[in-house]
Amino acid sequence: MPEMVSRNPIKRKREEKRLAKLQKQGRLVKGVEVPENALPANPDAQNHHGGYSAKFYYQDIHYTCAGCGKPEVWTAEQQKRYFEAQKGNIYNEPKWCYKCHCKRMKNKEAKENAA
Ligand SMILES: [Zn+2]
Repeated sequence: MPEMVSRNPIKRKREEKRLAKLQKQGRLVKGVEVPENALPANPDAQNHHGGYSAKFYYQDIHYTCAGCGKPEVWTAEQQKRYFEAQKGNIYNEPKWCYKCHCKRMKNKEAKENAA
């Protein structure tokens, strides 16, 4: 991580002002600056046992479905809901589109019922 606070007093003052403004806008999460177009996160609401992998903000994730190869987007809003409201696994990465995910769940259920 680059050093954010400069040794130069004038620059430091300017940086402090900038950070205070970010803080006010809710764009500073635990001292981490939230980039433009990113959604500020609430690390305290996440399920990350220890905090090393806490997320400070969310950005849309573009990926390709492992089942059908369709390009998909996991939006920042969906991630926030998943990680904070549903306490999803912080290490989870998107792999499947909604359709393939449902299909997989159905298959899993069928297998469990058959067992
Ligand atoms: Zn798919």
